[in-house]
Amino acid sequence: MANAFLDILDPVGQGLQMSEGRLQRAILKISTPTPIGCGLTPSSDHAAAAWWASVQSSLCEDRDLFGLRASLTRHADAAWTFLSSALSLKGAADASKVSHFLATSSRELLDGTVYHPGADREQRVVRLAMRLISRSRAQAFAAATSTTSISPHFTAADYILSKSPTSIGNIYATPLSPRCPEPLTPVNYIHFTRYFLGLPPLHTIGNINPDSPADYPAQRCLVHRGAILDAAACHASACTSSASSRTKKHNHLVRVVAEKAREAGLLAEPEPPSHTLLRGEFTPEQCRTLFPTKTGALYKEAFHKLMTALGDHHDPQHHEGHIKRMAAAVPPVPCADLKGLRIDLSLQDPVDGDERWIDATVVNTAAPSYRTMELAFTAAHLEAEAIANGTPPSSRVESPALAGREKAKRFKYSCLITLSQRQVPRLRHRPPIFTPMAASCIGDLATGTMEVIEWITSKYLRLCQTLGHRDDGFTPKQLTHIFKRHFFHSVHCALAAGMGNMIAYAGTPAAARLF
Ligand SMILES: [Zn+2]
Repeated sequence: MANAFLDILDPVGQGLQMSEGRLQRAILKISTPTPIGCGLTPSSDHAAAAWWASVQSSLCEDRDLFGLRASLTRHADAAWTFLSSALSLKGAADASKVSHFLATSSRELLDGTVYHPGADREQRVVRLAMRLISRSRAQAFAAATSTTSISPHFTAADYILSKSPTSIGNIYATPLSPRCPEPLTPVNYIHFTRYFLGLPPLHTIGNINPDSPADYPAQRCLVHRGAILDAAACHASACTSSASSRTKKHNHLVRVVAEKAREAGLLAEPEPPSHTLLRGEFTPEQCRTLFPTKTGALYKEAFHKLMTALGDHHDPQHHEGHIKRMAAAVPPVPCADLKGLRIDLSLQDPVDGDERWIDATVVNTAAPSYRTMELAFTAAHLEAEAIANGTPPSSRVESPALAGREKAKRFKYSCLITLSQRQVPRLRHRPPIFTPMAASCIGDLATGTMEVIEWITSKYLRLCQTLGHRDDGFTPKQLTHIFKRHFFHSVHCALAAGMGNMIAYAGTPAAARLF
């Protein structure tokens, strides 16, 4: 099963050249349940559980089989070997934990003391066994990717990605809907899945570095001397060759949010001009001066003075005088800065007038600049939880890289936000809410992103309730559940497709020439 999946990820037969440890981790992750892994369960696990459950059940009902049970010993031994291995039962103490629903040896199954005609039997044996198998695989993967495993074959970057609290693995358990704004193409699927599993990227440019410290034949970037295309996509996230792919990834994420917002009955405007956002209080020229794309110390000083003054005086004439004085005081805007600073998306609720300004950002949490703090954070907050529960670690505590990006976004747009807040009550009833939408390359969604998804989903629920009864019988609650699930799926597909595209173009000289 795992080999068949790995063949799909190696479409031109390059071979999976890497250390044994890296390959075994990938194989384990393939069979680990989603969203930690790809959720591909070997049929041998299911077959052993189903056979064992069937015999347990039949011995309690079928007198003929009960009489012939001695002939099943050989098969029962083989089935128990599979089943105990899948359940990670290493001894009698482990086996006793499942004895409430499962015979814990072929002897117990067939000696007629527990499973005999007329005996009570557990109905949900297969379901319980498969649940335990899933949990045991998740725990095995969590243990195989602990801090103590960090080595040249399992780098700190691999560790950070393997422990990320992401649910992007759900794309392997959900049909890839053509309705997604950014569906995964086969090529992007392969590139992303290799990254997700920690496998080295496909050879796209050759140029193998024989002296690479990596445990796989790593390609050298054709643009940046000394850089290699690593399994954690650290260079791909920074390489100029993949700059257009990074922009696409970002734009697709914004597109997903805009489309879902429209579906929920909101007005969505991507990259609205700042003068429109500020209800025409300032001209486009003033906005270019007030909100340049790049700011310097002089600008910050002048704007700080303006904000202080506006805080003291609400008189419109006084206000306008300050704007003009400040515009004259800031350095001239470069000719290339034609648009000035713009947020990614403006969402407006036509019903209650709620307004949200959204700016998206995607960050590779395994990148060298974040690695030290992410390593400490992951080890302190996420690892113990994952090993103990065999479930994906929760993202209740935000990754420092994501939190840092959110903070940077808030700072970047602080001038625009402050001015919009000062327009209350002159030009608006309530200030717009600015929310940075940060996500990691492997699908960890920051608090702001979750907040936006919840907010849009709540608007969708209101829309469904307004529309009332449907002929297909779906209730607003059911529709909202489907909407939210599809929202997450679309966000994850956009990130996965963007990452796949980015990895495909990293290191190539042709793409570099375009930028
Ligand atoms: Zn490069």
